[in-house]
Amino acid sequence: MKSRILYTKPSITEREVEYATDAARNGWGDRCYEYIFQFEKKFREFTGANYAIATSSCTGALHMGLAALGVSYGDEVVLADTNWIASAAPITYLGAKPVFVDILPDTWCIDPGQIEAAITPRTKAIVAVHLYGNLCEMDRLLEIGEKHGIPVIEDSAEAIGSYWKGHHAGTLGAFGAFSFHGTKTLTTGEGGMFITQDRTLYEKVLTLSNHGRAAGQPKQFWPDMIGFKYKMSNIQAAIGCGQMDRIEDLISRKREVFAYYQKHLSEMAGISMNPEKAGTTNGYWMPTAVFAPETGITRERLLERFKAENIDGRVFFHPLSSLPMFCPQPENRISYDIPARAINLPSYHDLTSADQDRVIDAVKFVYQE
Ligand SMILES: *Cc1c(COP(=O)(O)O)cnc(C)c1O
Repeated sequence: MKSRILYTKPSITEREVEYATDAARNGWGDRCYEYIFQFEKKFREFTGANYAIATSSCTGALHMGLAALGVSYGDEVVLADTNWIASAAPITYLGAKPVFVDILPDTWCIDPGQIEAAITPRTKAIVAVHLYGNLCEMDRLLEIGEKHGIPVIEDSAEAIGSYWKGHHAGTLGAFGAFSFHGTKTLTTGEGGMFITQDRTLYEKVLTLSNHGRAAGQPKQFWPDMIGFKYKMSNIQAAIGCGQMDRIEDLISRKREVFAYYQKHLSEMAGISMNPEKAGTTNGYWMPTAVFAPETGITRERLLERFKAENIDGRVFFHPLSSLPMFCPQPENRISYDIPARAINLPSYHDLTSADQDRVIDAVKFVYQE
């Protein structure tokens, strides 16, 4: 049996181990926030965000950010149908309703042209998810948001290393949220980050993240409101600091892995991969191939071949509206059409070109079958 190729895994060096060990040995008492503050600082410097709050997950960062924007019972939040559930779940935690619209055929991100028809007096936010590292059309989204007085939020969980006209993903909207889950480009095992340029919103989220205790509150153990508990631990932040020291390398390897796939797969007609449109830089978290209908290639045939070759195949996101807890919206044509003829390709820091060749051969096999 050939060795197994995972679809993703972290890159952890002695540096991360050293920092985490230090945090475990010494990061207590007076020093229990040291790595957390350092991690937030490094993240602010890297993204250009004015404010950052490390969290236990991206889901938590989204939940607190949406709450701080006032999203509550009966409200609506617009987002793309093609998404991971984590972008929609926090909306429902607040008693609000996710409203799903279709995606663009090339970026697989929300179609700005579909948003205005979905806006109602109850719409409180638009969530822009930079899918697989691909950038949403931020100029259009911000314009629509401004016109209707609705904040645009950037779920940038998959978009570290992605830039829109020189601005890092997550710094253009009202706030950005990142994930450091073990599958992401930068990992702390589990973890996330809330970033914003808006001081007032930052202070609100900081209070919410501290169980509702305001920074200036002189009374001990005195929450002024019901908040949340989505904090990152100092040990996780220590690993994050090690990853931030290596962030340029982590991202450039993602870009190299993508470039290698693209070079070899673009020889075949009818395959489209993650775009990098003019004015954008793609962090290429997840290289993805979509096969034109005339190729006859299906997800099932790809998965079968990958399995035979001991390669992890990962399916393109199902439309959220097709899941049992939502109402089907097959009118979101592109969201319903693409997954059946698409696949995510393995991508991680230490993936060798020999392993990439195996993946490419598996795709070619199905292509020529
Ligand atoms: C991974 C991911 C999340 C969830 O991140 P967690 O840290 O697991 O909460 C949210 N949104 C998107 C787009 C993701 O890819």
